[in-house]
Amino acid sequence: MTSTDLPRSEVNIDWNNLGFSYIRTDYRYLAHWRDGAWQAGELTGDNVLHISEGSTALHYGQQCFEGLKAYRCKDGSINLFRADQNAARMSRSCERLLMPEVPAEMFIEACKQVVKANEHFIPPYGTGGSLYLRPFVIGVGDNIGVRSAPEFIFSVFAIPVGPYFKGGLVPTNFVTSMYDRAAPNGTGAAKVGGNYAASLLPGAEAKKRHFGDVIYLDPATHTKIEEVGSANFFAITKDGKKFVTPKSPSILPSITKYSLLHLAEKRMGLQVEEGDVYIDQLDQYGEAGACGTAAVVTPIGGIQNGDDFHVFYSETEVGPITRRLYDELVGIQYGDKDAPEGWIIKV
Ligand SMILES: *Cc1c(COP(=O)(O)O)cnc(C)c1O
Repeated sequence: MTSTDLPRSEVNIDWNNLGFSYIRTDYRYLAHWRDGAWQAGELTGDNVLHISEGSTALHYGQQCFEGLKAYRCKDGSINLFRADQNAARMSRSCERLLMPEVPAEMFIEACKQVVKANEHFIPPYGTGGSLYLRPFVIGVGDNIGVRSAPEFIFSVFAIPVGPYFKGGLVPTNFVTSMYDRAAPNGTGAAKVGGNYAASLLPGAEAKKRHFGDVIYLDPATHTKIEEVGSANFFAITKDGKKFVTPKSPSILPSITKYSLLHLAEKRMGLQVEEGDVYIDQLDQYGEAGACGTAAVVTPIGGIQNGDDFHVFYSETEVGPITRRLYDELVGIQYGDKDAPEGWIIKV
């Protein structure tokens, strides 16, 4: 049976009031790694995994994941944004955690199958929503010692999500923390659950103080900005000429961030720099933002660091360069603007 022949449930979703929460869609892709190889994957309607109580994913954090989106275009076609980059990044995460890499072709094929089989869950063009894909690899199978798992699962599921901003771009305030999300030579550059487990407490503390999330400082010296809990950081110098973003081995390299960096340089004529952004030298920047698949481009109003509160452009309004970056990126994702070579995979 091809994915377009699969029976479909009736979808009853208020597209204009979608948030970011779990919604069970009809099909997910599931493949097992056994006897040293990935077995043929298939779509399944079952959204519950049955795994050994000894699975390394449960005890030793041997797991990684990805996040990417499929967009409904004006002409009815479906865009996947830079899925090859997610495939490459998941390979690097698997390598770091001693898990078998999922070949890029298998990763992209799985994403396409899941999008096609759940096509009726893709929010219509113009609602600002998209179909969020969550690929992941977990170590499973009977085990107790600290070692790599005997078996693995690769799965991709999909969830319709609403726009990150309902009423237009609104700046968010962030706060620094005494905690780190990753160690200097740890797993910060891998998209693994352990980094997120470490960020739950500082994230909850930040939210209790009414900040959007934590801005993590470099774990070695706590003097430089690294990234937000689940998004990368960028800033624009006060003269409006340079796009600056931190460079560090403990940052998770955001595909959105590198896309913005490319657009800033090639389409907006800005200079671009990956370098140090010192937390006590934020006066040089006129705008700042957080970026990622979920956050898209979130303007940063201000950052609280100890007793200091630094406001960039405004706490209530988005700066002009941040707005242009957002418009350019989102225009490409929905197919309204020409994409750089290879950025869009049609489903
Ligand atoms: C996934 C993620 C990001 C954003 O990466 P994108 O590829 O842009 O979605 C940023 N920081 C962390 C820690 C992440 O896990």
